[in-house]
Amino acid sequence: MIQIKDKEFISYISEEMLLQRVREMGGKISRDFEGQSPVLLGVLNGSFMFLADLAKSISIPVEICFLKISSYQGTNSTGKVKDMSSLDIDLKDRPAIIVEDIVDTGLSMNYLLGKIKKLGPKSVSIATLLTKPDALQHPVKVDYVGFEIPNKFVVGYGLDYDGYGRNLPAIYQLK
Ligand code: 5GP
Ligand code: MG
Ligand code: MG
Repeated sequence: MIQIKDKEFISYISEEMLLQRVREMGGKISRDFEGQSPVLLGVLNGSFMFLADLAKSISIPVEICFLKISSYQGTNSTGKVKDMSSLDIDLKDRPAIIVEDIVDTGLSMNYLLGKIKKLGPKSVSIATLLTKPDALQHPVKVDYVGFEIPNKFVVGYGLDYDGYGRNLPAIYQLK
């Protein structure tokens, strides 16, 4: 068990399980995009650790850049997306892969899909480490999923509780 600020969390997905699954995802993406050079669009802040491990396990040429949005406060969605992105890459006619930590209500992904599609990419795919199928309110087709998890708040491996916990190498669930 660990404590972050006022809350207690229990071990949920180990570092070994995360790495094994992320490597499988990287292998699949490499096969699916063979002969192409996609742009990985990491969604800050939560995706930074997943993106780092995923990118290392991709064997085709990729470019990497970042979007920055936020919609969560504490352990709840605010229902609104705040966009702080400044995308400095031309996506025209290129395959884009949005790399996200977790798809929860689907609000953020729906917003980002709309935004990226307007930039004229060849295709837009979504790779997320986690999904919470029971929390989905804005349906979105996710192409690559690491783990489907129950509708409970998690931290670690990039995901935060009120700013903290992102540096944990494994994932923990709210007790
Ligand atoms: P959505 O827009 O799908 O509701 O959620 C988007 C964002 O909320 C996620 O990308 C993530 O940053 C944050 N979020 C959703 N569920 C969790 C969770 O269980 N733990 C943490 N730390 N963040 C979450
Ligand atoms: Mg996120
Ligand atoms: Mg957060």
